[in-house]
Order: sequence, then structure tokens, then C-alpha cells
Amino acid sequence: MKIALIAHDKKKDEIIRLAIEYKDVLSAHELYATGTTGTLIMGETALPIHRMKSGPLGGDQQIGAMLADGNLDLVIFLRDPLTAQPHEPDVSALLRLCDVQAIPLATNLQSARVMLEALKNHVCFE
Ligand code: PGA
Repeated sequence: MKIALIAHDKKKDEIIRLAIEYKDVLSAHELYATGTTGTLIMGETALPIHRMKSGPLGGDQQIGAMLADGNLDLVIFLRDPLTAQPHEPDVSALLRLCDVQAIPLATNLQSARVMLEALKNHVCFE
């Protein structure tokens, strides 16, 4: 599966811990991430990740374009619901495209865990 990993700044620690916890599961898939999230996860796990631009600089739109083209199978986007983001329109567009394409989307740590547990147990999302 092609999986996108994204986290707002205050959620970066959470997504790193998640990637470490599920490194074995994630390593069996093709990973994509926005720039900073990808750099941090690669630094902590050595997982290979295709990195887009940083989210505020267009990375969310690049992930969105992949969604629009049907090129992603699952998205984990740990959002910070308590901080205004300068690129909120890009974030909303990305989330909307997940719904347009019916792509599984986790926006918080626990829902991400549910999805990764499902992947670990080879549950099919299609
Ligand atoms: P970043 O982007 O990984 O480059 O910080 C995440 C975001 O969309 O804010």
C-alpha cells in the first residue's frame, strides 16, 4: 500500500513515536510524507520515505494531488486542532480528497493505531 504520513508541528513527537512503534508494519509499505515530517521520521527510524515539500510550502497539495490521481491508499495526518495553521486551505483540501476518493484517513493518534493494527493483521481496506 501507499501510505502518507503527515503531522502538524505539535504532533511531530506523536508521529515519530507511532512510526517507531509500527516500524515493522510500515516497512512493508511505500511511504510518503510532507517534508519536515518525513525528515524527522527517517532520522528516527531509517524507514525509506518519499518526501514532498514541507506542508506550508505546498507539501499538503502534493499529497492532495496524489490522492486526486488515486495514488495513495491510506493517510495518517496527525492534526493539531488547537493551533491555527497558515495553510489551512491546503489541509482542508487534502482531507476532502480523502473523502472524495474514499481513502482511509486517521487524524489522531488512536485512530492511526487502529489502522496500523489492522494493517498488521492484514485486514484489507478495499
Ligand atoms: P511538514 O508539513 O511535515 O513539512 O511540517 C506538515 C503540515 O502539513 O503542516
